[in-house]
Amino acid sequence: MSPRKLQNLCAGTWKTSATSSYTNVHNPATGEVIAHHPLSTQAEIDEIIAGAVAAFGPWKRTPVPTRSAFMFRYRHLLTAHSDELADIITMENGKTKEEAKGELLRAIQYVEHAAAVPETMKGSVTENIGTGVDIEFIREPLGVFAVIAPFNFPAMIPLYFAWTVATGNTVVLKPSELCPLTAIRMAELAEEAGLPKGVLNIALGDKTVVERLATHPDMVGLSFVGSSEVAGIVYKLTTSAGKRCQAQGGAKNHLVVTDTAILDACMPNIVSSMYGNASQRCFAGSNVLVYDSIYDVFLEKLLKAAREFKIGNPIDPQTTLGPVISASARDKFIAAIDAAERSGLKLLLDGRGVTIEGCEGGYWVGPTLIEAGLSAPEFRTELFGPVRCIARVSGLDEAVDIINSSDYGHTAVIYTESGGVAREFKHRVDVGQVGINVGTPAPIAFYPVGGRKSSFYGDIRGRANDAVDFYTDKKIIVSTWHGDLVQEKPVDPAFTGQV
Ligand code: NAD
Repeated sequence: MSPRKLQNLCAGTWKTSATSSYTNVHNPATGEVIAHHPLSTQAEIDEIIAGAVAAFGPWKRTPVPTRSAFMFRYRHLLTAHSDELADIITMENGKTKEEAKGELLRAIQYVEHAAAVPETMKGSVTENIGTGVDIEFIREPLGVFAVIAPFNFPAMIPLYFAWTVATGNTVVLKPSELCPLTAIRMAELAEEAGLPKGVLNIALGDKTVVERLATHPDMVGLSFVGSSEVAGIVYKLTTSAGKRCQAQGGAKNHLVVTDTAILDACMPNIVSSMYGNASQRCFAGSNVLVYDSIYDVFLEKLLKAAREFKIGNPIDPQTTLGPVISASARDKFIAAIDAAERSGLKLLLDGRGVTIEGCEGGYWVGPTLIEAGLSAPEFRTELFGPVRCIARVSGLDEAVDIINSSDYGHTAVIYTESGGVAREFKHRVDVGQVGINVGTPAPIAFYPVGGRKSSFYGDIRGRANDAVDFYTDKKIIVSTWHGDLVQEKPVDPAFTGQV
């Protein structure tokens, strides 16, 4: 099949971009070009925004249960097409089919939570806040939001739009240029589920699209998920333009293995956190901090478990570890391993030199483990791939100090059978999510997600009820009535105009 030219979705019409600039979407397992992705022009982005603005009024006035009913139909279609969507994810992202199905399960839960808008959009009222005066707030949608997605969850993060539109806004979605195909297919399914034209729009491109969406006068806000560097830039740009922004960034997550951890029980969880999805998860364990007293026995078990990954083409059901996303990502990881070796760090597991028969053009890096000093760059900056670090710690105090001195604050995990140690840990670590014997403490759809420090810019987290907060405004209404039936008259100066 020859690669197709991808199109924008503008006011309900799929349109080929007039641009002459295209990037290629690759299958990371083979290197094959699977689609051509346009870098849309500013005029095209402006046209898409105009369509979303026009769709906002009617969509906002659409009864809340009707918007909820769309979510039910959409959930049904996403579920019915899960197998097809998982294949697309595997083809454009390189995660295994099993991992792709897991992502879809979580992604569909976003739609389930969004379907609860008749409940989550409820306002509140207090009668007689003053004599004869009532006060209420109603939640109102605000207009057009942008959702900007990274490559690593091609279904889950684009589906942030479920909350955007369930709450009555319209949305311009910009998927990652590396993995746009899943979002495009999900948009087609949204149309099939009956989402009115212009409510969901797709703008394909790179950072210039994001910059326009962040600053266009008709946009009201932006949800971003991606690396810390870009999250910081986008947050500044959007808020400087006077708009709402939540920007989830990158991570350098620590897994602390204490002397009471039941190593054999924890090990599948630990290696999966470190290397699952080719370590391209913001919740992945990056640095393992192991109590000195159990270091040697732990290391032996970890190396054994990590060597059991079967690297290969993710469409092969035997494969448990697919490729990394791109040739440049692979080159970056290989360069980091080379640099670690040159600087004298101990390479406990070396993922260089992997070749897969029949997939010679793929982007392969095997599980890598570096015994790193705490100041090593490998230990401090995010490497979004299977290059992980391990270090000894004397105990809880040192582990907490290391975690809290990181520039990132996404997750921290402890493996322990001591309730006291776990309790101490969860209160002292300066991160957004804590795992206790759980290596990827993802809040999934039903709790808000967000980190601290450079892992999150903003104040209202993503997903769940926080998403409803982010995409709506609480309008306050204070009222009194003067007719014959009204017995109580305002006396409070706050409500009689005297204050
Ligand atoms: P990225 O930051 O390179 O790109 C994310 C999005 O931003 C893409 O759509 C891209 O087109 C756009 N973009 C890139 N450079 C830009 C710029 N200068 N200005 C404006 N927009 C720009 O991230 P990625 O490589 O696609 O994804 C991996 C990163 O995402 C990792 O750092 C990972 O930790 C992070 N991530 C975080 C979470 C979370 O919940 N915090 C979840 C998933 C991924």
